Amino acid sequence: MRSARWTAAAAAVFTLGACSPRVLVGPPPPVRAGAATAPTPDSLAAQFLNGFIGNSLAAFDSVDPDSLSRAVMHAAVQRKMAREANTRRVVWQNAHHAVLLLTGTVKAGNGGDEANLVRHFSGFYEALQGTPGWYITRQLPIDSLDYLHGQVMHVELVPGRDIHVEDTISIVVGSDYGLAVRLNNDVRITRLRVDGDSVAWSLGGGVLWVAAPKRDHAQLTMSYWLRDSSRPSHEVAAAPGDSTPAYGEFHNTDAWHPFFDYNSANDLGPATMTVHLPAEYYLTTTLPQHDTVAGGVRTVIGQSSYPTWLLSLIYDRDWRPVSTDVRGVQFVTFTTPAFHFSHDSLAKELRPIDSVLNARFGGPYPPYIAAVEDRGLGPRGFMVRMTDAVISGSKADVLVELGIRGPSFVLAHEVSHAWTMNATGPAANMLREGWATFAESVMLRAMYGQAVEQDYWNRLRNGYMLGSEDRISILGNPDNGGVHYSKGAWIFHMFNDLLGDSAFDRGIREYVQRQADGKTAGYQELITAMSHAAKRDLTSFAMPWFTEKVVPDVRAEVSGRRLVVSQVQATPPFDLPLDIALTMAEGGTIHRRVRLTTRADTVLLGRSDSVTAVHVDPAHHLLLQRHWGQHVRLELPVSRAAGDTAVAIVGDFTLDSVPATRDGDKWVVTLPLTEGRYVYSWQINGKPRSIIKGGNPGTDGDSTTTGAIEVRPLEPLTDGLPKGGTFHQ
Ligand SMILES: [Zn+2]
Repeated sequence: MRSARWTAAAAAVFTLGACSPRVLVGPPPPVRAGAATAPTPDSLAAQFLNGFIGNSLAAFDSVDPDSLSRAVMHAAVQRKMAREANTRRVVWQNAHHAVLLLTGTVKAGNGGDEANLVRHFSGFYEALQGTPGWYITRQLPIDSLDYLHGQVMHVELVPGRDIHVEDTISIVVGSDYGLAVRLNNDVRITRLRVDGDSVAWSLGGGVLWVAAPKRDHAQLTMSYWLRDSSRPSHEVAAAPGDSTPAYGEFHNTDAWHPFFDYNSANDLGPATMTVHLPAEYYLTTTLPQHDTVAGGVRTVIGQSSYPTWLLSLIYDRDWRPVSTDVRGVQFVTFTTPAFHFSHDSLAKELRPIDSVLNARFGGPYPPYIAAVEDRGLGPRGFMVRMTDAVISGSKADVLVELGIRGPSFVLAHEVSHAWTMNATGPAANMLREGWATFAESVMLRAMYGQAVEQDYWNRLRNGYMLGSEDRISILGNPDNGGVHYSKGAWIFHMFNDLLGDSAFDRGIREYVQRQADGKTAGYQELITAMSHAAKRDLTSFAMPWFTEKVVPDVRAEVSGRRLVVSQVQATPPFDLPLDIALTMAEGGTIHRRVRLTTRADTVLLGRSDSVTAVHVDPAHHLLLQRHWGQHVRLELPVSRAAGDTAVAIVGDFTLDSVPATRDGDKWVVTLPLTEGRYVYSWQINGKPRSIIKGGNPGTDGDSTTTGAIEVRPLEPLTDGLPKGGTFHQ
């Protein structure tokens, strides 16, 4: 279900000041990481790259102040992956200040993986002259002041051999450092020009650097080859002697054409791609396209009608493409006859998704959706979005999961990516994946009702609590991790609850329009759009959910005539619009609205002496720690695990298994569970595995010993599950 857009370095949170740097008198060098100095910028660059290929973490840390690029080197050393130093160049310098281009490779056997592995490492670094010498201050974003404003590509594809690409890119070069873009390490460039002129260039460490002069509008033209690593397929009957693969692909994440980064706002633009390949093959450009066949050659012309950036090429000899109109959206399937879903069955599934999402949020953008069976992904279902295509492996058999395995709505998730594919900045993954995960809830509610939707939010909460709480924040972790799906979706959910559908939908439409216009569309722009829709500034409400590693821990108690509400988590106070439910001794419940913006607040009550219980946010509008629940007793007859000695429970309330104890003819586990819904499975002699060992209790266990637990808020718990902060790497 992940968008194939990897996310780039947190480098994007830095900004490069001016293109003509101020003359800086260097402050004293930092004392730890990055403290090492060298007599010249070039010798500093050499020291940096020597550190990268060496095996001393301390030696490298001493020259590199950037935690993300240090992590690249550390991970490679820990995994014993070979490294090589590539580009070392002082691209700009004055008396006290220099910009270095430093790139390296972590060897991975193919140029696409290699470009991705070093995307937090290879790039521009700033160096200053201090006392006693030059030292590196920080990594600079690769896209500072530079733009890729669209491209026209001509591709000759020989399946199983290579592609030859003629690429013309409209560029803006705003700095004196030249232009640097990320590109597959295996690319072989045969010709490169800027506005028709030969210029110096270098490719290495996943970065193509071009000595392009500072210019408002320029054209970069490149001619290059890239080998096709697709192999002849054994599972597809081929004619005797046929050595060509039946299918293959150049994925967007293979970095097969130039781009800046997975969360850059500077490489969005129109794209046109013309591909020639043997007529017996079909191909998707992941863009709206049409094909013609003449003289044994198929010509496919894909053309964007919406700003785009990274494209894919996926081809297959056995596809039978079908195109129809679904509610004004062109729907094209690229699937083989063996694919589980026919075109018509997918079109039928698409209709309600388009209807519900369109009614609320407009779109999709553009009105084109391809469903692609990408056999190179193996026997898997719908799992990824690439530009205007939802991509499945060869074994899609479910589009919706309810019951123990669910709820989830994978087709709705992949379709809904259309609305926020062009999100930018350090929260780009949250804006893509949190959105798509939220959109699943919209569809689950529309088609299966509120109870299923509620189960879904519980499931996401459990995943968040076990996987991310007290470990990572959204802004601190720009790569595509679980927090963007779980807490990310909850952020959209909380906005929706706070604003109501009408205002929320207006806010989403404003935010999505920015993407249609090719503008920056980061989390700040989302908050601005939501604030416009709400007619008040929602910054203080929204920001802590992006910056903090924990969710609020709100306590409420009645003392005399006072209701005291406090937030006790170890962060600055969140801005919390709370509903407090007071259970009255004489029966009934009264609700008080409290906006808690400080550590603690007091509300005077009229009839406090009759309050018997206080529930904070009982309808779960917010993602909070929960303090009410039940002690749940689960039992398994010993006959079901006769002779076994190791019986335990695994479930999405705890990362590790919880051992059962023998009580007569039963195995018993008693768990303090907070209000919600949990999926569990009895674990007998280690099977199924616990979550911390990579298991999934909802899908891995024997169906007769797997179940779901509904937990109601019947008693206050001091140590309820799931708890965050239990999984420290
Ligand atoms: Zn996704």
